[in-house]
Amino acid sequence: MTKCIWCKRSDGLLSLEHVFPEGLGCPDGFVLRAGEVCKTCNNELAHLDQAVIDELDVIGYMNDVPRKRGRQPAIRNRGNVIGTMGPNGKEISINMEAYSVQTHDGSRLGAFGKSSRNIRTSFTRDGHLATVSFSVPFGQNPKFIRGIVKIAFSSLVYYLGTDLALSEYFDSIRLFVKNGQGTRAILLKSSRDGEYKNQAWPPFKSDLGEYLVVFRLADTEFIVDLSPTLTLFPTLKERAFEIYGKSDWTFLPVNI
Ligand SMILES: [Zn+2]
Repeated sequence: MTKCIWCKRSDGLLSLEHVFPEGLGCPDGFVLRAGEVCKTCNNELAHLDQAVIDELDVIGYMNDVPRKRGRQPAIRNRGNVIGTMGPNGKEISINMEAYSVQTHDGSRLGAFGKSSRNIRTSFTRDGHLATVSFSVPFGQNPKFIRGIVKIAFSSLVYYLGTDLALSEYFDSIRLFVKNGQGTRAILLKSSRDGEYKNQAWPPFKSDLGEYLVVFRLADTEFIVDLSPTLTLFPTLKERAFEIYGKSDWTFLPVNI
């Protein structure tokens, strides 16, 4: 029987594991084969998918991406913001006050500054033209990086199979994703085309046999070093400077 890529056991229960979280729009068929993730791990790691969905909720909402099980696009768990779909399109309430307020749909919105997930807005007026700008924090939740590494490793399994994935070589990846042990770093690049697009590419293998996974979620490309001790990452950073210049890319965690 197929062993689970996370716990290396089999609970005999079949579950369907989407490589990209369903709530972000996983391309058809981009799923792992039955048993490659056991039901227990599928459930226990769902909070990491949620952390990734949470980070990309605003761009998903703006691009009308339905959430899991076809639910309407929405922004819900940011404390000072609620975004829903009304009869005439998007309805957003943002609270920048230091006290809670009532919103367009009757619910309460928390005070600004109470949560690191709050969205900051600013309002400028020039004659008859008013501009509202949003500032959305990104990547502060440590679970977000674990969620991105989980996607990268699942993508590797999709392309290269479980024989490779179950080897000890990837045990440090399992420990990081399952328990948050160790440090992993990811490189992010803004696509700048503003399009919401989800796409994955086959893993890249270095001359020394290290694996690198690249995929795009929403408007961001992620480059994930899956080598046991992040040996590719310094080169990656250097190459990113050469290829992309100083702007348009960043890495997480910021103190690596
Ligand atoms: Zn498992």
